[in-house]
Amino acid sequence: MSDSIQAGIVIIGAGQAGVQTAESLRAGGYAGSITLLGDEPHGPYHRPPLSKAWLAGEMDGAQLVMRAPEMLARKQIELRTEVKVASIDRAAQQVLLADGSALPYSGLVLATGSTPRSLPLPGGNAAGVHALRSREDADAIAQRLALCLQQQRPVVVIGGGFIGLEVAATARKKGQDVTVLEAAPRLLGRVLAPALSDWYAELHRSHGVKLVFDARIEALETDSDHAVSGVRLVDGSLLPAGLVVVGIGVHANDGLAQAAGLECERGIVVDACGRSSDPAIVAAGDCTARRLADGSLIRLESVQNATEQGKSAAAALLGQERPFTATPWFWSDQYDKKLQMAGLSGGAEAWAIRGNMGGDMAGASFSIYHFRAGKLIAVDSVNAAKDHLQARKLLDAGLSPSPEQAADLGFDLGSLLK
Ligand code: FAD
Ligand code: NAP
Repeated sequence: MSDSIQAGIVIIGAGQAGVQTAESLRAGGYAGSITLLGDEPHGPYHRPPLSKAWLAGEMDGAQLVMRAPEMLARKQIELRTEVKVASIDRAAQQVLLADGSALPYSGLVLATGSTPRSLPLPGGNAAGVHALRSREDADAIAQRLALCLQQQRPVVVIGGGFIGLEVAATARKKGQDVTVLEAAPRLLGRVLAPALSDWYAELHRSHGVKLVFDARIEALETDSDHAVSGVRLVDGSLLPAGLVVVGIGVHANDGLAQAAGLECERGIVVDACGRSSDPAIVAAGDCTARRLADGSLIRLESVQNATEQGKSAAAALLGQERPFTATPWFWSDQYDKKLQMAGLSGGAEAWAIRGNMGGDMAGASFSIYHFRAGKLIAVDSVNAAKDHLQARKLLDAGLSPSPEQAADLGFDLGSLLK
């Protein structure tokens, strides 16, 4: 795509993927105008701390900032906050803003992120029921947590995924009474091996969190002020609550793309280089569903995915091929435990455990190696940063230890890389 076209590049979404794409365009030599549109009241900020240090009150506002507006300005990236894009006119190559104005583009980046799934239950909209996506959500939860602590009212978390468990750990560290309700029979069931789900359940119990599996919720009970007062399960039991945090997954923000006729399926369908079904439009981050070589679609919701896809999307707009080939990785902080995941463990048939998992939970440091058809496909490490880094290198290089080698602390896995 030529940078001589005056209209320049418009990026919808000033989050992780939008910022990365803008900066990669500049780093790649793009000299035309770049306009970064975000509908939030803030400039780009980090979301991961919202369920961790920010919620715990252990961070100041400056640390949450991802890129200061001045830094973007120095790179001649025009940041416009509180600007919502209402639609895309592909024929005219322009986006229409909510205030009725139009912005032409030569290249368009969709980096619109995702939205938490809501709970379609009676009482689901009551005061004191919160999802967690934005800084405002986190601040509202922190305020309600403080009130609950003062009034000694319990917290109920719906969803034993990343959001739910990180919020539970943060609330528990503050001394809250916390119950997690999970619809599935185990925690983080879609991303962790059963042994690690069980280990995390034990970790939370050891910190005093109550866990309910196979939870079926009937309604959220409210008081006369329409504020939440409890969670009623289908078995008739009632859990009192002054705060309910709902973390039951997200859906991709692909509404603009759908309305504009782009191919969408659980997200904006892109190839490995972030290209959509329109050659002038790329997409990156949580809003996408990436087509793999075998034709299947993968949706990843992580900082690394947004960063990698942002780099690929920028390259595509510059007419270069930069497919996303890196091994996916994720992390989660709960209590003093850092979980680091490399690769995708779905479909694993065999597992090997390296390190100290049992007994003394305080001193735990271990990794679970996942194998399919005898090949290493993923490694999940808890307080074992060296294993994680090594695992990423092994996975990137397509190298596999045997399960026996992986489990043997005496075997130097690094030797496979030499
Ligand atoms: P976002 O960061 O959501 O940015 C999209 C932006 O687009 C938003 O600001 C949105 O308001 C804006 N937008 C949407 N529609 C429009 C429109 N029409 N007009 C203008 N603007 C629009 N990932 C990890 O890897 N590790 C973690 O530990 C981790 N912790 C997390 C904790 C929390 C509480 C949350 C919420 C997420 C966490 N994630 C974590 C996930 C990670 O933050 C996301 O995957 C990442 O932010 C995705 O980046 P994105 O740019 O695709 O979307
Ligand atoms: P998630 O990780 O998909 O977990 C949602 C959990 O809620 C799943 O275990 C799900 O079970 C369960 N659930 C669904 N419906 C339920 C119901 N009605 N009642 C009880 N449980 C229910 O999503 P999330 O935790 O909400 O996180 C949202 C987003 O933030 C994701 O994009 C996530 O990646 C991101 N995030 C990431 C991190 C991290 O990487 N450390 C941290 C926080 C947030 P099923 O699997 O059976 O549906």
